[in-house]
Amino acid sequence: MTSTTSSTDVIVIGSGIGGLTAAALLQERGISTLVLEKNRYPGGSCSSFERDGYRFDAGASVFYGFGANGSSGTLNLHTRIFRKLGVEVRTIPDPVQIHYHLPNGFTIAAGYDRKAFLEALCSKFPHEAYGIKNFYSELDEVYDILSSLPAGSLEDVTHLLSVGGRYPLKTVSLALKTFLSMGKRARRYLRDEELLHFIDIEAYSWAVQNAMATPLVNAGICLADRHFGGINYPVGGSGAIPAALCKGFEKFGGMLRYQAEVTEILLENGEARGVRLADGSEHFAKIVISNATIWDTFNRLVPDVRHRVENDRFLQAPSWFQLFLGVDASVIPAGFDVHHILVDDWKSYDTLGGTIYFSSPTILDPSLAPKGKHIVHAFVTDKVESWQHCKRGSGDYRAAKDEMAAAIIARTERILPGLSKAIEVKVLATPLTHQRYLNRHEGSYGPLLKAGQNVLQKPQNKTPIKNLFLTGDSTFPGQGVIAVTYSGVSCASYIARKFGKPLDELV
Ligand SMILES: Cc1cc2nc3c(=O)[nH]c(=O)nc-3n(C[C@H](O)[C@H](O)[C@H](O)COP(=O)(O)OP(=O)(O)OC[C@H]3O[C@@H](n4cnc5c(N)ncnc54)[C@H](O)[C@@H]3O)c2cc1C
Repeated sequence: MTSTTSSTDVIVIGSGIGGLTAAALLQERGISTLVLEKNRYPGGSCSSFERDGYRFDAGASVFYGFGANGSSGTLNLHTRIFRKLGVEVRTIPDPVQIHYHLPNGFTIAAGYDRKAFLEALCSKFPHEAYGIKNFYSELDEVYDILSSLPAGSLEDVTHLLSVGGRYPLKTVSLALKTFLSMGKRARRYLRDEELLHFIDIEAYSWAVQNAMATPLVNAGICLADRHFGGINYPVGGSGAIPAALCKGFEKFGGMLRYQAEVTEILLENGEARGVRLADGSEHFAKIVISNATIWDTFNRLVPDVRHRVENDRFLQAPSWFQLFLGVDASVIPAGFDVHHILVDDWKSYDTLGGTIYFSSPTILDPSLAPKGKHIVHAFVTDKVESWQHCKRGSGDYRAAKDEMAAAIIARTERILPGLSKAIEVKVLATPLTHQRYLNRHEGSYGPLLKAGQNVLQKPQNKTPIKNLFLTGDSTFPGQGVIAVTYSGVSCASYIARKFGKPLDELV
């Protein structure tokens, strides 16, 4: 039986970081907002889950945006948002963004100390020292521009005029830089093939694309801010971020419902009017924001087939195979860095499973594991097709997962000898897990730009359907917790102005 259960100003489908950020900022302006989440917990790919006394990060564990300095601008977004909401997330400085273990024994740690990082890179490639300094200085210039411009919606003409009027040179310079790719700029300064491979893995580490396909603007955040705002880990794990957003949202009167899966976005005369849930109930609002991926939003939730997103519109990023391990602490040596990337062969680093991502957050926050134990979270790219023949929960499925995990563990022993013998708890997730828990199309990391596309060709928050907006990693600027936070801010800022209650600048 269908029942009309509520009416609010805004409905947000999904409580990922993009959805929660938009919801909390709108609710803080007095715009009544209802968040509907299919799971029993918030955060999506930035949630935590518990097993046998361990608290694992479901996905993200390298966090930007918690820097403390700077009184205006785009960066330190988490600090600014939590300050605005009046909630606290305690963090621990995470000194090394990534420790790379690359082919031919090349290892380097990209740490907070920019000078030490550049010196280490220059000593490995002394013939490229001049180009290395110039390339990373160009990333700093991008960072410098971004960090001085206030966050807002690129679709909001009032915001653009205000920023352009106040910072005309920086705005024009940034607009021109949106046409540049990280790889093309690197090739302007650098020639050494191995060094260019390193630039590729610097891009791949967060963009899951090589440097040629990665916009310079995005690189200007990830590869420069690690040396300024730095990387900081939330005490209690990744789930502390959505928990704080929920706290801020609810403090201002926001309503959040779990186990509330949206099955349809209701349209009337071509405009979004509300949503229908799996239990048949209908909820109405002036604005609907979808935090689901662009494919799930338009190919599953919007019933009008004219809005279908065809497969070739974007590149589809792969999904992931993940190992969540509880290990005896003795396997992690003293001074071991938290985040690592392992590449065995440059020929296969960007093929499925070619690069191993690895984090051990208990090095920073031991409270995530029982005493004397550590967490090891390792993951590689994977695709749903490789698992579709297995029935979830079957013996075949378990055996295939165990076999794949054993191969990854064996490769990881290169940096952690004895890892296989130290494992006490093992939880494995495949692309099917991603698809099921996060409602993400084929478990994908999200849509990627094709090489040569301008970063502004990423979908923005507005959609072709009136009153339907998108937030999250399908939208500009893309994947990553800080990026989807930006998307949530820009979405809220556009909608708040529509309601005549513009967001204050985040200071
Ligand atoms: C393995 C892995 C490692 C990562 N590592 C990092 C990292 O170290 N640092 C970093 O910054 N980023 C990292 N990321 C990326 C980052 O986690 C994501 O880009 C970001 O969290 C995505 O946020 P989102 O708001 O777009 O959506 P999601 O996290 O996908 O959340 C969407 C939410 O909407 C809900 N939902 C979907 N459809 C419906 C529906 N129909 N009805 C109700 N609810 C619905 C889902 O259940 C989910 O809770 C990683 C991601 C993965 C998978």
